Amino acid sequence: MMKIAIAGAGPTGVTLALMLVQRGISVTLVEAASDFHRIFRGEGLMPSGLNALSEMGLSEILEQIPHRQLDAWEFILNKKSLFRVDEPIEADTQPCTLVSQPPLLEKLILEAQKYNHFEFIQGVAVKDLLSIDHRVAGIKLADGREIAADIVIGADGRNSIIRQRAGLKLEQQPKTMDLLWFKLAANPRFVADNVFSAIGDGENAFAVFHGAEPGKLHLGWTLTADQNIQKISEITKTEWAKKFASISPSWLAEHFLNHADSIEKPIKLSVIVGLCPSWHTSGVLLLGDAAHPMSPIRAQGINVALRDVIVTVNHLVPALLAEADNKQIDRVFSKIQKEREPEIIRIQQLQKEEGRQHELLPKNLFLRKIVFKLARLVSKAVRLSWIQRQRKMRQGVTQVKLEV
Ligand SMILES: Cc1cc2nc3c(=O)[nH]c(=O)nc-3n(C[C@H](O)[C@H](O)[C@H](O)COP(=O)(O)OP(=O)(O)OC[C@H]3O[C@@H](n4cnc5c(N)ncnc54)[C@H](O)[C@@H]3O)c2cc1C
Repeated sequence: MMKIAIAGAGPTGVTLALMLVQRGISVTLVEAASDFHRIFRGEGLMPSGLNALSEMGLSEILEQIPHRQLDAWEFILNKKSLFRVDEPIEADTQPCTLVSQPPLLEKLILEAQKYNHFEFIQGVAVKDLLSIDHRVAGIKLADGREIAADIVIGADGRNSIIRQRAGLKLEQQPKTMDLLWFKLAANPRFVADNVFSAIGDGENAFAVFHGAEPGKLHLGWTLTADQNIQKISEITKTEWAKKFASISPSWLAEHFLNHADSIEKPIKLSVIVGLCPSWHTSGVLLLGDAAHPMSPIRAQGINVALRDVIVTVNHLVPALLAEADNKQIDRVFSKIQKEREPEIIRIQQLQKEEGRQHELLPKNLFLRKIVFKLARLVSKAVRLSWIQRQRKMRQGVTQVKLEV
């Protein structure tokens, strides 16, 4: 039986491992983190990601773990609602759903562990690749272990060590922002009506929503390149509450001020966006963020990663079961990239365009004044244009169906 080693047990690595072992392929999955809960993981799944999980036969698992549907998206400018769009945006799709990733990943690993030909190594990083005759033939772990494999999959995220060691280049987009991610006590209004609220005054901006786990609001504060992170780390909870409140509608401002004590220490999330010109070399394939790190805008990364996995399974499983030789396997890698790349390029473009829309106001004082003055008049047009831009980011660009 051919053996696959997968580096990284995020959504890409875990779903791929499960799909492969279910189809009789031997997999060793290695995850650096000893606890899934200790790393920040996005939660938003769009209809395309929910469909991908359903294609993989995993929808039932979602029902067993903390998840919460989003009821609407709302854009609040200068403390007033510019527009609101209810979920699901398209009548025939599921609403965007927040899914707690740690329990999802744990459940999927338990599923995979039902198979004797699955091995999970947790709490040890992959450090390097093993090579024989100019072909990758396994991985080296930080604890000195060596794992031989016919194929290595790099599913180890945006700073992929597999990508670096395989000498695969990442073409990065210029950095436009980072995020500070806060959690704080929930407000009953978000429990009853979970709105993803994007709030700004033209200079500062943040997004707030109720996460998948009960009792917590998530708040992502946009850090622009010129903000001094050193100074930011000195800001107290009360000062943060005042900052959030200063651009929020009164009911929400009151919540921030009354629950300042519940504001947890923020995590700084560095946003990397890019695409590898080649996702593979002999014996190695990159998938998910390792091949194409995604921006957090409009929650795309997990969704496209799950779709990478489906396409990979469609192409790789028949080749592995037919005991394809090395040349044939490398041709399969090339087909996988060819099928996935157009969607990734388009989605990254759409995210970039969304990002530009968000930057318009901070950069243009004149426009800001006009929008503030005419908010009522322009809101209908802005709302319609926003809805039209979302479709592909919600449903995907290409057809992706699990065929094997
Ligand atoms: C602030 C922010 C918010 C986001 N929100 C969302 C969202 O709501 N919805 C969405 O769809 N996308 C979101 N994204 C994007 C999304 O998080 C990623 O695109 C997605 O997680 C990619 O999945 P992955 O499995 O390829 O990589 P990852 O999720 O990064 O998983 C990689 C795994 O590899 C492990 N690893 C790393 N190095 C090694 C090593 N050397 N050895 C072994 N293991 C290793 C890591 O610990 C990790 O578990 C967000 C991104 C950011 C920055």
